[in-house]
Amino acid sequence: MHAVDVIRAKRDGRRLTSEEIRWFLDSYTRGEIADEQASALLMAVFFRGLDPGELTTWTTAMIESGERLDLSAVDRPTVDKHSTGGVGDKVSLVLVPLVAACGVAVPQLSGRGLGHTGGTLDKMEAIPGWRADLTPEEMVAILDEVGGVIAAAGPGLAPADRKLYALRDVTATVESIPLIASSIMAKKIAEGTGGLVLDVKFGAGAFLPEPERGRVLAETMVALGEADGVRTVALQTAMETVLGRTAGNALEVVEAVETLRGGGPPDLVEVTVALAEEMVALAGVDADPGALLASGAALPVWERMVAAQGGDPAAPLPVAPHRRAVEAPASGVLRRLDARGVGVAAWRLGAGRARKEHPVSAAAGVVCLAKPGDEVRAGEPLLELHSDDPARFEAALAALDGAIEVGDAAAPTGPLVLARVGAAAGENGPA
Ligand code: URA
Repeated sequence: MHAVDVIRAKRDGRRLTSEEIRWFLDSYTRGEIADEQASALLMAVFFRGLDPGELTTWTTAMIESGERLDLSAVDRPTVDKHSTGGVGDKVSLVLVPLVAACGVAVPQLSGRGLGHTGGTLDKMEAIPGWRADLTPEEMVAILDEVGGVIAAAGPGLAPADRKLYALRDVTATVESIPLIASSIMAKKIAEGTGGLVLDVKFGAGAFLPEPERGRVLAETMVALGEADGVRTVALQTAMETVLGRTAGNALEVVEAVETLRGGGPPDLVEVTVALAEEMVALAGVDADPGALLASGAALPVWERMVAAQGGDPAAPLPVAPHRRAVEAPASGVLRRLDARGVGVAAWRLGAGRARKEHPVSAAAGVVCLAKPGDEVRAGEPLLELHSDDPARFEAALAALDGAIEVGDAAAPTGPLVLARVGAAAGENGPA
């Protein structure tokens, strides 16, 4: 087989055979096909797409490029969650201990943030001593003892995706539904979870802002999971504005802990409980995550999870030495606080990175003192910017240009949980 023939076939709109897909991805992972040829195939897929059969083969080939974790030694049903990424999305920090407290094991392999959305590992790493790298044996032991684990996906998990994602990032081929779906699902299926709940964000701060495209992505990922025997459900949830009141690593940990104590912002609680209910249903466990969260009973599980990975749950978190207020431009009702604007501001303050190898600041970020729908007075602080370096404030303020709108009346808002994709609740049976 020749790489040029496979590229030409997809460029001209021909369906690729299973052999062609498997051969191409395997040869590329082993370094026998050049980056420029893989880039050309990605661009051809970007324009021509993959049909369901091609997509299943593509995803399987990515899974088989590496190891599959074996979680059969864990004595509880396993269910994980994946989010397509948002601003202030600290849901995993609350959800993993909450669902573990319900009796389900949650094996969450996460990534670091890139661009305007934060990464779960960056948030956890704000906790002094906490480490993301675990061996598969350590992961299984923590799952057995504590019930929840958040760790870095090792280099052996779907290595084809690792190489392809790096290429997509620099060749403008990220925003392709079959490429996104196969990339996410290959990693989640290889992680060995029995069930999976996907949080597909829509709105200004989402990776795919249009709900219609999000729906297609959700349906595509659910079909890939089910085809591989992983019971999968997706919720489409709103990302028009920041989830909760904070965007930034340590700031989000503080807010997550507040929520685990039974408090926390109502939007974060609503999204977390909706996802938790789907997870316990997939596991066939009879529990009431909403009541459990409100009671504070998930907090000790969080403390054990943090301690099991070397962290000190009682240690003070880093605090930024420099702060700057952003004031309301007029009196009235805050109509819009654009998630993308706040996400880019937090990133520029130091909370995020532009390239994978860049470090992030634990303390930097944005605190929202008001949320859409709140009454505000001209000159009153709306946002508080936190940074280690005051020279970063100007660029962060520029990102907020046009992100804030104050008017006479609140803007109409839609539901936080827009839609559910997957088998009817309870239809899948216990894990
Ligand atoms: N996240 C992934 O893991 N892969 C994508 O392609 C996009 C987002």
